[in-house]
This record gives sequence, structure tokens and C-alpha cells, in this order.
Amino acid sequence: MNLRFYNTIHHKKEGFRAISGKLVGFYTCGPTVYQYAHIGNLRTYIFEDILKRTLDLFGYNVKHVMNITDVGHLTSDDDTGEDKIEREAARQKKTAWIVARFYEGEFKKDLKKLNIAEPDKWARATEHIKEQIDLIKKLDSSGYAYKISDGLYFDTSRFKNYGELLKIGPKDLEVSERITVQGKKKPEDFALWKFSQPGAKRDMEWASPWGKGFPGWHIECSAMAMKYLGLHFDIHAGGIDHIPVHHTNEIAQSEAATGKKFVNYWLHGNFLQVDGKRMGKSKGNYLTLDELIKLGFDPLDFRYLTLTAHYRSPLHFSIEPLKSAANARKHLMNLVQRSYQAKLRVNSKVRIKFENEFLSALSNDLDMPKALAVIWKYAEKIGVNEFLLADKILGLRLDKVKPIKIPPGIKVLLKKREEYRIKEDWKNSDKIREEIKNMGFIVEDSSIDQNITNFLKMQEL
Ligand code: AMP
Ligand code: ZN
Repeated sequence: MNLRFYNTIHHKKEGFRAISGKLVGFYTCGPTVYQYAHIGNLRTYIFEDILKRTLDLFGYNVKHVMNITDVGHLTSDDDTGEDKIEREAARQKKTAWIVARFYEGEFKKDLKKLNIAEPDKWARATEHIKEQIDLIKKLDSSGYAYKISDGLYFDTSRFKNYGELLKIGPKDLEVSERITVQGKKKPEDFALWKFSQPGAKRDMEWASPWGKGFPGWHIECSAMAMKYLGLHFDIHAGGIDHIPVHHTNEIAQSEAATGKKFVNYWLHGNFLQVDGKRMGKSKGNYLTLDELIKLGFDPLDFRYLTLTAHYRSPLHFSIEPLKSAANARKHLMNLVQRSYQAKLRVNSKVRIKFENEFLSALSNDLDMPKALAVIWKYAEKIGVNEFLLADKILGLRLDKVKPIKIPPGIKVLLKKREEYRIKEDWKNSDKIREEIKNMGFIVEDSSIDQNITNFLKMQEL
């Protein structure tokens, strides 16, 4: 079975072929660490985790790099406004370094809570200043850069395929209504290096051949991706907001510098929305993972919720669907526990059909809603192994559901209860159920097979 992904740059689904056999170079744009991540951001990281797990399950060896934007991301994606981290540092009366490291730590905690695997390589922008300056030097020496009072800018008119990701012609770019920096030749030209402004104090600034300052936001991803994954690699992912500016500019500066194709497959996740609008830090309509936890949810309830929508569709967030996701996840855990108790022999034809349908949903551009539907379709017929196979992708920690050891005293009671049930003596059978409940277990009469009784430890499920 071959994997197919929707490749933004070609605007269609394509069969996946890695550059070097089974090795996959994978780069994802990481967080700008000036605030807690919101659950919209986290939706994107879950999508990327599903992508990575799928590649893994299909036998690829993924090398994953994620950056930490700890400098250079301005309040507007068009190089205007303030550095988000410096601004937050001033607000909190802390240094930009302290703010950046704090939110990076919080972000990593969120990933853990959501069972998102960490990348093989974390790359901080501030630790790759030299690589960024080297890349800018290359662009400068081949005539792709020009200097204005505010910084060094990339001259997009020199790059023939500018805007390929968007498939818009230079004309469309010209009419775009961007707030622009004075002196830029074209609105879509972007900063490679920004100068520290005289009189303005910055915690993060470095010397460069063009003057003291800090790197533009896009150059970090190009420099670090190429350092760790090579000049040409397989997959680059992020949220759809990165298509028109950040990724468009990454392509332009990388390909201009190397003369090579930068990335083969571009994958973009759609937004988490609230009341029809993108959830965003600047919009003030966001929730953090810890806020969901305070409301009584498990982080994995949110993970489940994100799997109910295709990654390329918007997902509308509200509490009711999150509650349904929480119930569905619990139900799934019960089913795994039940399969342990039932020791059901899974029919091999059923197993093969389940696996084929599940993998085929994944291979079709990560169709997780379909993959979930397949699990529910076969839920009563599959066993622990099949649930655990599915969980390699779902990441719902179904492997943490352990078979419960039933104490001998309860076994005796159960036998008695079974005798009452055969005699249809419901009164006494219910009495025993109560007795067992008082001992901390719940008896459920399974719909898988009426002869099988299951036990669920109350505290855990
Ligand atoms: P940032 O920390 O702002 O650089 O964003 C981190 C990631 O979250 C990027 O990949 C964005 O594309 C993504 N993102 C931002 N807002 C949303 C949203 N409402 N829904 C899904 N992803 C988002
Ligand atoms: Zn990036």
C-alpha cells in the first residue's frame, strides 16, 4: 500500500516517494515561544505527529527536526511591528531569554501531555545565528539581497518562481494590501536581517556583516532545515497560515541560495476555529491545554477530538464535541480492557479486513475520521493486538490499559452471580453486582458475547 499526501505545492494528492529509499527528512515549524501554545497550535502539532507515526508504521525511518522560534518573529508576518518575544519580555519585566526558555519548556510539557513524540532534533533560532548569517551572505553575494535603513531584504523580483506555493502570479502579489516597511522595493520582499533600532534596547542582538541586529523570521527555518536535513529533503509541514508568507519565503531564499529544489512535499494543517474564526493568540479567543485540564478533561480527549476532522478541514471547537470525544475515548479504553478479559479469538479474515481498511484510510492523505470509523466498525470483533496497532497512530495510550487481575474472592462471587443469572434470579444477581462494586470493581455484561463478564476497575476507567 502506497502513501498518498495532498502536496500544497502541486495542489493535488500525490503518491509519496522518499528521496533516499526508506529515509525521510521531515521539518516542522515549531512554536514562537512568547506565550503558552493554544489548542489551535496544538492541533497542528497533533496532525504532524499523526503524519510522522504513519510514515513510521509504513516502514519509513523519519528524521524529524523542529525549530523553536526564540527570536525574530514580529507581530506582523510582514516584517513590521515588534519582536513578539522582546515585547512580551518588556511586558513581564523579564529578559527575552527567560521568557523564551520558559514558554519553550511549557510547550514541551504540552507535547508530552498530548503524547506527541518529540523531534529527533530541536533547533533554536538563537543557537543558529552563524548558519543564518552564512545563508544570508550567500544570497547577498549572488544579488538576491538589498539593504535599506531597516535591514537587509530579499529581492523577490529576482526569484523567478516566487509564490509557487500559492499559485498566484506576480500581478496578484502586486495588488496585495500589505502593510509594508518603508523602502522595500516590493511589498512581498522580506527581511533576511533586521537592524537593531538606535535607542531601542534589545536583549537579543548579534553583530553581522550588515550591522547589529537579528535574523528575519523565515531565514531560521531554511538555515536549520538545510543544516540537519540537507539542501533538498522530503517533507515540510505547518499550519495553513504559513502558506502565503513563511513557507513561500522559505522556498524563495533556500532555492535562490542553493539553486536546488528545497522540499518535495508540503503539507499544511487547517485551523481550529471558534465561532467560525481562527483561534489565535492575537484574537484573544483561545484556550490552552491546561485550561481544558482545569475543566476536567484529559489532554487525550482533545487529541481524540482533533482526529474526528480531516487535517485539511477546519475543526470547530466547542465543549460539547469535546465531551463526546472524552466519552468515545473512554469507550475505546473499555473495549481494550474487555478484549483482555474476553481473550476473544479474532477471526483472521476479520483481522486482515480491519488492517487493510485502517491502513488504507491512513494512506489516503491521513484520513483519520475514516480510520476512526473503521475502528468503531470492527470494535466488537477485534482484539487487543488490533487496538494496539491502531493506537500506534491514534496515540491515545491504549497500551496503558492493563488487564485487571481479578482477586479470588471476586471470582467466587462472580461464579455465584452467574448461577443466579442462569436461573434468571435478577434480584440476587444484582445484589452480588453491588457487593462487587463495593470492592472497587464494576461488572459489565458484555455485548460481545453474553457469556463473558468483564471487570473494570472503577478508579481507572
Ligand atoms: P506560532 O507559535 O504562532 O508560530 O504557531 C505555531 C503553529 O500553530 C504554526 O504551525 C501555525 O500554523 C499553527 N496555528 C496557529 N493558529 C492555529 C489554529 N487556530 N489552528 C491550527 N493551527 C494553528
Ligand atoms: Zn518555519
